[in-house]
Amino acid sequence: MKLPELATDLARQFQRIYGRTPRWFVAAPGRVNVIGEHTDYNDGFVLPMAIEQYTVMAADISRTSKSITIHDVTVGETATVDVSQPVEKGLPKWSNYVRGVIAGFQQRGSKIPALDVTMLSTVPIGGGLSSSAALEVCTATLLETATIKKLDPIEKALLCQKAEHEYAGVPCGIMDQFVSVMGKENHLLLLDCRTRETKLVPVTDPSVELLIANTNVKHELGTGEYAVRRAQCEKAAAIMGVRSLRDATAEMLESAKGRMEEVVFRRARHVVGEIERTLHAAEGVRASNWLTVGQLMYASHRSLRDDYEVSCKELDAIVEIAEAIGTAGGVYGCRMTGGGFGGCAVALVKANAIDGITEKMEADYRQKTGIEPAVFVSRPAAGATVLRS
Ligand code: ADP
Ligand code: MG
Repeated sequence: MKLPELATDLARQFQRIYGRTPRWFVAAPGRVNVIGEHTDYNDGFVLPMAIEQYTVMAADISRTSKSITIHDVTVGETATVDVSQPVEKGLPKWSNYVRGVIAGFQQRGSKIPALDVTMLSTVPIGGGLSSSAALEVCTATLLETATIKKLDPIEKALLCQKAEHEYAGVPCGIMDQFVSVMGKENHLLLLDCRTRETKLVPVTDPSVELLIANTNVKHELGTGEYAVRRAQCEKAAAIMGVRSLRDATAEMLESAKGRMEEVVFRRARHVVGEIERTLHAAEGVRASNWLTVGQLMYASHRSLRDDYEVSCKELDAIVEIAEAIGTAGGVYGCRMTGGGFGGCAVALVKANAIDGITEKMEADYRQKTGIEPAVFVSRPAAGATVLRS
């Protein structure tokens, strides 16, 4: 569904619940990372884009309460957050993403008005396309609108990240919030996770599309393994005497090989290689050099599978299917995207071959795994927007 249709749907829900028409509509997109995985906490580069799937809120000032009341149409639950005092963690669990953002605005000295809100999300929840950042950034955009005070985009993204750290308890990097705030139609966002500098990389060639395949699995290993990987990266950096793996080169790593456990070496090899690949891919996208970008995506996947060991058989299955279709069938490249252990894969494909690729990917994945995937395309979308205010 396109944004205006989502807004219409949500307005109907608002009318049904609150008995009047809403005053504001705001939306924030999910994202897919095209390349640059597990580089963010190593001060490296990432190359994501916002997708055409959103968290959308319809809202109006509440004249009768001291709270922000959010009815979540997607999960059928309502959160009530008293904004007459400092906001703390609470229930339902998902409300903590919202609470953290409200608290961030309060800490900046904003007086938060009571609001009636309905919300829905077309970003799959927990599917690796960052429904969490979409929820935070949508909340922040609503509060900017309701308080008539726009934040600087970087501050806004950091406020949302802090909410996820402190209220939801998820130690995420900065990518998701940055791209949900700063994404631009038909552009990827090259983000330097050390300096927080962003560069928009135009995707001007209409003959290619990004295709996203959701494996519809999520293996629980994820959280624990993430901490282990972070520690291994820090260890490798310390052995080489650099601040982070951003400062290491392949040559430095090779000469330090004898002083590292084999597994630590492989983790570092992924990160150092992936930072290189991300910069090359950004150049490739700029030049519409799709064969090169595709090869970099496959190389990224192999590295994540073999050196970083964060893939899983379902993600590998998608990439194998993509490779079997090949350039002749319209696939330039494919890789797992997001933290790993499930979630989504992303593929660079020829626009005129999408129907055939989608059908084959669905059928072969179903046959290999017995699981129904969700396969769809998205143009690079705009970041958070106010649809009506
Ligand atoms: P991802 O961000 O990739 O979708 P996360 O595990 O980071 O996965 O975030 C998923 C969590 O975000 C859910 O468990 C839920 O608490 C919260 N969430 C995001 N969007 C919504 C929504 N529209 N309604 C309810 N909860 C949501
Ligand atoms: Mg998330």
